[in-house]
Amino acid sequence: MTQHSKGTALITGASSGIGAIYADRLARRGYDLILVARNSARLNELAKRLTDETGRAVEVVAVDLGNKADLGRVEQILQTDASITLLVNNAGVGATGPLLASNVDKMEEMIALNVNALTRLTYAAVPGFVARGTGAIINIASIVGIAPELLNGVYGGSKAFVLAFTLSLQKELADKNIRIQAVLPGATATDFWGIAGTPLEHVPREIVMPAEDMVDAALAGFDLGEPITIPSLPDAADWESYEAARQNLMPHLSRNIPAARYRTAIR
Ligand code: NAP
Repeated sequence: MTQHSKGTALITGASSGIGAIYADRLARRGYDLILVARNSARLNELAKRLTDETGRAVEVVAVDLGNKADLGRVEQILQTDASITLLVNNAGVGATGPLLASNVDKMEEMIALNVNALTRLTYAAVPGFVARGTGAIINIASIVGIAPELLNGVYGGSKAFVLAFTLSLQKELADKNIRIQAVLPGATATDFWGIAGTPLEHVPREIVMPAEDMVDAALAGFDLGEPITIPSLPDAADWESYEAARQNLMPHLSRNIPAARYRTAIR
């Protein structure tokens, strides 16, 4: 039976891995889809399968989100298509090599996709969501956003940006009926690893989650209304105490005098 439409979900990085599974799951939940990535053959193949299997409308937009003009096309879709109720900011690339072994131009390309494109697409979507009084954004961050020592530092920094940006937007949009979730996957079995410079087979199996399980857990977290979802974390209380420690710091971080331990040094 065809489900009643929940509106349209625009998913970036939908041609493979995590994004393609979001496409599958969201179509089955009753969303029409706009699938964005560079590889048009893979996007079209996925679109055809999902239309055949779910009866949902699936549109393909084959663009390079690192290219300003291409990115502008997707921004325009988000600004003008009032059927869009969900943006999944998933497209991203990583790196596993250390700073000294990394090409800075590659690092800049990573920032353009992981940070700049995600920021511009969010800016394009939010005003319409606010005007319509509804909408949701799922931002795919990473555990390296809180553990930047684990992989390449620019990659970790880009995902720390996604987490900080999400936390800030959650506060700003709290009374506007707009949901924003940040998902922090651990290692997930996708093409990501080979592209980032470490074959998946070299990653210890006990830390790698199947991509289907990761997305299903992240959507379960979305359904629970979680602002931050860490699919691997066994005990949610561990995140809550980390977050509580951060909240406790907040009233003490900006004052009109230096801390006592620094005052003698200043005199
Ligand atoms: P993936 O299979 O390599 O998917 C990345 C997606 O992004 C692909 O659809 C790719 O499609 C798209 N993409 C890459 N560059 C693009 C560009 N310039 N313009 C448009 N689309 C582009 O890897 P994945 O694991 O599913 O990654 C999805 C997200 O999860 C990323 O943000 C990643 O940082 C995050 N993540 C992954 C892991 C992990 O262990 N796999 C862990 C934590 C977080 P095209 O090549 O067709 O453009």
